Amino acid sequence: MKYPKEVRTYCPKCKTHTLHKAKLFTKGSARPMAIGTRKHNRSLYGHGGKRAGTKTVKKQGKRQKIVLECSQCKKKHQRVIGTRTRKKLEMS
Ligand SMILES: [Zn+2]
Repeated sequence: MKYPKEVRTYCPKCKTHTLHKAKLFTKGSARPMAIGTRKHNRSLYGHGGKRAGTKTVKKQGKRQKIVLECSQCKKKHQRVIGTRTRKKLEMS
């Protein structure tokens, strides 16, 4: 799926439509000492947790997220693209 590099869309800060730069959202690295990460790691112990094995269910793909940056106020906001895609978004 292709997505334009620049889109004219609504900016919640300027309260009008302005030109935005579009970029693919990238996840930051997880903090190993954060409470949520520790809680999750604890849940993986024992038989009640997730165990390694072969997966039978094929994934349907992910909903891609993009970051839009306003050209006037430089405010960033995110947008989720509604359809699920197996391939990464191409910025054209
Ligand atoms: Zn703006």
